[in-house]
Amino acid sequence: MDDIAAGRPTEETLDPKDWSDVEALAHKIVDDGVSYLRDVRDRPVWREMPADVKAFFRSSLPRSPAPLADVYREVAENVMPYPMGNVHPRFWAWYMGASNFAGALGDFLAAVQGSNVGGGNHAATMVDQQVVNWCKEMVGFPASASGTLVAGGSMANIIGLNVARNVKAGIDVREHGVAAMEKPLRYYGSDQIHSCHRKGMEALGLGNRALRRIPTDTALRIDLTALRAAIAEDRAAGFQPACVIGTAGTVNTGAIDDLQALASLAEDENLWFHVDGCIGALIAITRSNAYRVAGIERADSVALDPHKWLHSPIEAGCALIRDAAAHRNTFAVTPEYLEMTPRGLASANWLSDYSLQTSRGFRALKVWMALKEHGIEKFGRLIDQNIEQAHYLSALVEAEPLLELVAPTNISIVCFRYRADGMSAGDLKALNTEIMLRLQEEGTAVLSDTTVNGAHCLRVAIDNHRTRRSDLDLLIQETIRLGDKIVKESKAS
Ligand SMILES: *Cc1c(COP(=O)(O)O)cnc(C)c1O
Repeated sequence: MDDIAAGRPTEETLDPKDWSDVEALAHKIVDDGVSYLRDVRDRPVWREMPADVKAFFRSSLPRSPAPLADVYREVAENVMPYPMGNVHPRFWAWYMGASNFAGALGDFLAAVQGSNVGGGNHAATMVDQQVVNWCKEMVGFPASASGTLVAGGSMANIIGLNVARNVKAGIDVREHGVAAMEKPLRYYGSDQIHSCHRKGMEALGLGNRALRRIPTDTALRIDLTALRAAIAEDRAAGFQPACVIGTAGTVNTGAIDDLQALASLAEDENLWFHVDGCIGALIAITRSNAYRVAGIERADSVALDPHKWLHSPIEAGCALIRDAAAHRNTFAVTPEYLEMTPRGLASANWLSDYSLQTSRGFRALKVWMALKEHGIEKFGRLIDQNIEQAHYLSALVEAEPLLELVAPTNISIVCFRYRADGMSAGDLKALNTEIMLRLQEEGTAVLSDTTVNGAHCLRVAIDNHRTRRSDLDLLIQETIRLGDKIVKESKAS
């Protein structure tokens, strides 16, 4: 007797009635994905969405079904042609990797398997832990250290700052909260520190002011004398200096703090030493540039970003903590429903004991597959290549009278501007901003801008395995063409 005849509700599933239909469509989607990346260079880096595309995203909540093929057609028409652009060879804005196809397959397979990596005795947690172990090895951390994969560098930094707070609080801060601390904690970083640290300080209840921004030297690295003075001043004023944050690759210019000196200072002053290595930690795997981050292996915690220089599809960040017990003691909570069993699926450590998340995605697979496919030496060479390209671009800027460098080029970030004689700072900023926007709108290149030592500039951050020197030649040529044109337009008006 069937359900209807028996008066029972019919049972439904999200699975297709006929798998062969979705099979054909899935093959087409993979084919389209291959072409999309193969032909990326032929498309604009970025383009504005037409009004009808924007309107499409305001359509109402779907109530009735549509064939998956129709849904995919909507994606192909309205989503895929309007990317952020960071997979393109001439995307150099902010700081993000260029993704890779093995990683994309990894994300797909992770979703097909659908495992929750909050913990348990299954292969996805093994892959997750292996990627963490590989990250430890990349930065020279001992095998006894701990770590966790998180959404990105911001979360990885906050994990490190959180463990630092709990270790240095002097009380059981998990139980009693920050209000019960005898002395307010102080953290230190340079005036170039990334904004995520501010969010972290706020979320941890320490407050933005508890993060002192220390001035930088001419190379935009933290000034160690000023740092020592600030620590002494805070001790005298009744604060508890707790943590120094070194940056290995600042977001403005790529400056790398003197990590050896910071490690020694942290030892002398009994501070937690955290390194924000979102940009630069992975330089440790290179042949030519590893010396720049020497000392990172001495940190108590490191934040690094596989979705930057390992080019894994976003999101993937990693927090490493030298003292595994301190890491676990910061986050572990074991309710009865998460107790371990002697055998079976729950017979492994819960990975939710190492961060704020309970359910965790299988983001490790995309990182793991690309590392296996290419090997770490190739990733190291690609980092060296980006650094070499940034120095190539800097030389082009220096050779061109209409352009000037605004900061020294250290690793892969070039800060420069178009200059026109007799222009005020405000007019120069407007001119360079206009160049940046037209480069975007014409689909030629995506840069961002910043201010260094009081000077507004264009900023080219090369974290891109598809960039070629000829792309940088084109950038220089187009920057000058647009600069000249905008100057002429403004004189004519
Ligand atoms: C990118 C970056 C971050 C933030 O990382 P996300 O992955 O974007 O969350 C933090 N610090 C520095 C220095 C960065 O470059």
